[in-house]
Amino acid sequence: MINSHAHLDFDNMNSVAENAVAIVPSIGQQNWIDVQMYPYFAFGIHPWMVESHSQQELDHLEYLIKCNNPVAIGECGLDYIKDIDKETQLHFFNSQLIMAEKYDLPIIIHAVKATEDVIFLLKKYSKLRGEIHGFSGSESQAKQLTSMGFYLGFGMQILNQKSTKIRQIVKNCPLEFILIETDDHHNPNDLQLVAEEIAKLKKIPIDTVTTQCDNNAILLFNLK
Ligand SMILES: [Zn+2]
Repeated sequence: MINSHAHLDFDNMNSVAENAVAIVPSIGQQNWIDVQMYPYFAFGIHPWMVESHSQQELDHLEYLIKCNNPVAIGECGLDYIKDIDKETQLHFFNSQLIMAEKYDLPIIIHAVKATEDVIFLLKKYSKLRGEIHGFSGSESQAKQLTSMGFYLGFGMQILNQKSTKIRQIVKNCPLEFILIETDDHHNPNDLQLVAEEIAKLKKIPIDTVTTQCDNNAILLFNLK
């Protein structure tokens, strides 16, 4: 089973079974070295971190992308719940979208209360592919994004019975556009629980879920 988004390098992470495969995204210059310990990693600057980065780090990010073969760019994006300057967030996100297109790499997007702006920006780059991880947008935004070929990542939040909106989106979203993840949840092995919940919501066998989600990750991130 492929974990499409797990911060395995974070301190509070329990060790993962040896056979686990995960995409390990970075959040900024502070973990660009650490994530490279894992077979599949991504380089990016997280929207929460943009104020501690400058053009110099954006240039360094591009250099790393050119030299170190990440499977993706990210995570990057927009977060309008946080009190972080919007213009700065937009500048860093847009710069990383340009790099994703230039180096033909998928983009891993963090979008919180900002999915509308994310969709607006993605439309400017027609060749881009990628995923919205930890999807928290609306049903119609989910439809727009999948019709643009973007994948939606779902994690432990779908196990919460109170998350009725997001559980409904999982039910209706074609399996061909779903990725499973544990993000910064301390036990990345709980990925199995996410897959089981999707199977329950869609009333399909769990094997169908894991096989298709693995294939989706392999296809998007070009995994060998
Ligand atoms: Zn993350």
